[in-house]
Amino acid sequence: MQESDHKRLFLPGPVEVREEILQAQTRWMIGHRTPEFAELFARLQSKLKSAFFTDSRVYVSGSSGSGLWEGAIRCGVRDDKKVLHLTGGAFSERWAQISSANGKGADCLDVPWGRAHTPAMVAEALEADSYDAVCVVHNETSTGVTNPLREIADVVGQYPDTLLFVDSVSGFLGTELRVDDWGIDIALTSSQKAFALPPGIAFAAVSDRLLERAEAIPQRGYYFDFLTLEKSLLKNNTPSTPPVTLMFAADAQMDEILAEGIEARWARHRRMRDAAHEWALSRGFGLYAQDGYRSDTVTTVENTLDIDINALGAFMENDIGIAIDKGYGKIKGATFRLPHMGDVTMDMLREVLAGIDAFMNRV
Ligand SMILES: *Cc1c(COP(=O)(O)O)cnc(C)c1O
Repeated sequence: MQESDHKRLFLPGPVEVREEILQAQTRWMIGHRTPEFAELFARLQSKLKSAFFTDSRVYVSGSSGSGLWEGAIRCGVRDDKKVLHLTGGAFSERWAQISSANGKGADCLDVPWGRAHTPAMVAEALEADSYDAVCVVHNETSTGVTNPLREIADVVGQYPDTLLFVDSVSGFLGTELRVDDWGIDIALTSSQKAFALPPGIAFAAVSDRLLERAEAIPQRGYYFDFLTLEKSLLKNNTPSTPPVTLMFAADAQMDEILAEGIEARWARHRRMRDAAHEWALSRGFGLYAQDGYRSDTVTTVENTLDIDINALGAFMENDIGIAIDKGYGKIKGATFRLPHMGDVTMDMLREVLAGIDAFMNRV
């Protein structure tokens, strides 16, 4: 591969992808209505099920994760019912907008950015009104907050008609997620975050209960209709042309991930989180996310030292050769993020932190 002008990515998506995984995409193309493709599909399916800790199924979508947001809402929320969104960051707010854009009644249980949702808040909301589904962003990438998903799932589990929809776009394969044990009806993710694949493919573990709900909804759209996806999945296939090259990459990457061990991978992310916290606090920066709910995959640093983030970004790219994040949404500049996710190693994290130190020590 051509290396000379490559700037390594230290971004909360797209993340840096290892060369072996990029190479896996260079295999000759195969037709998707062939036994060879069905074998690839089945092989990948079984690895994905173990990664989501589910016995049900994992849909593979030729889209980014946002498409599956729409699929979950269209297949899971009846037109005369409502959905509850737990909002408190850029991504949770966008998911709520998608529900409204699809004509669904959406209520928001809003917390200030940087705060987590507690099980008590969810219990109170479900006591007060009835919902077809509760939508939670597991790991809010803009603020660096991880919601107490398992505890929230326990609360939602007490309401048999209320499904639990989880965006784990930046959590999956970086922080603990157990779909079946926790009673999650959909856990959706994108490829370009902690999965450490190129963008353009998305995945969702979906429960039987959600498929039963879909049967009661006449207009679910087509591209993200889970009943259509299910029909094909049973034949180890997809309804429309799948992103075959990205599936080659996903298959190869799952082998690496299972070799590392999923729980070991979560532990590696926790160690990098701890190193990022220690660095930020020792330099006099703040941590934006509420204590006790700080993400294992991305640390949102409060720019309390008021460093020039654009100048930092330029220095890191030109002098160190690494592209870094400059914050997201309304907290851009006031914060910047350290995305210790995917195949980022402690060595790379330390290289980035040393680079920021060098920038701050310049005269
Ligand atoms: C990146 C991100 C998304 C959007 O995913 P796309 O793959 O860009 O559609 C959604 N939710 C969270 C938490 C994210 O980090």
